[in-house]
Amino acid sequence: MRLKDKIVFVTGGSRGIGKAIVISCLKEGAKVHYLSTSPSPHQSEMDEVAANAGGQVVWHQGNVTDEAGIVSLIEEITKEGLDVVINNAGITRDTLSFRMKVEQWQQVIDVNLTGAFYVAREAARFMIRQRSGSIINMASVVGLTGNAGQVNYAASKAGLIGFTKSLAKECAARGVRVNAIAPGFIETDMTDELSDKIKEQILTQIPMGKMGQAEEVAEAVLFLSTDSSRYITGQVLTVDGGMVM
Ligand code: NAP
Repeated sequence: MRLKDKIVFVTGGSRGIGKAIVISCLKEGAKVHYLSTSPSPHQSEMDEVAANAGGQVVWHQGNVTDEAGIVSLIEEITKEGLDVVINNAGITRDTLSFRMKVEQWQQVIDVNLTGAFYVAREAARFMIRQRSGSIINMASVVGLTGNAGQVNYAASKAGLIGFTKSLAKECAARGVRVNAIAPGFIETDMTDELSDKIKEQILTQIPMGKMGQAEEVAEAVLFLSTDSSRYITGQVLTVDGGMVM
């Protein structure tokens, strides 16, 4: 029960990696708030895990791009406390840069980067007063390596890495840690969209020769959420089967 009595907030917790994070934190005894634009198909599973672990799970309908909505949500959550924040909500709008419309560029930056900024700013304010907390930003190996067809996504994730390091420097002496996780190629709805040909191509670049599971990313989140990582801040932890070394 590494998160017993802790309060956790996860953006994009309804599916994929976010859902695995919600479940892992619940199993460790946390009260988990999560945000998504639409309801989770996994709500009853989450409720069951929460009931068994003595925790609680609360869904908030909303959008990370809605600044006023984020400000009031974090204000509401922090009335009870806030120990861990995971900026996990993310989208892709893939196409080659010379075909990319401004809307495709902007939507990805707005959700993946500006949304994370709204959440982290509000959370950090509270955590600094509390003198403790862990903020985890879900980046991507693409933010480290770049990827054809993803200039918007890669820019948002590289931006998130710079953001993580800067915020970590601002918060370190105030008891708040800020780290990023860079997943590789993980089995979720996001990667399900890719053609079999692209999936095969990506698999050839993974030394371990297989896709990762959302639960494997959630394990890294647990490590960065708890005291096990108490002397670690400003880092990017890749969870990618060896894709980026
Ligand atoms: P996913 O299966 O598509 O799930 C995305 C989650 O984000 C959903 O819960 C979605 O819920 C929520 N979301 C999307 N836009 C939102 C918004 N504007 N406001 C609030 N919530 C929003 O994606 P995933 O594969 O689990 O990815 C999770 C994170 O890991 C993302 O940041 C992604 O970039 C990153 N990542 C994934 C991979 C991978 O291989 N899968 C690799 C590297 C990094 P609603 O649609 O209901 O809003």
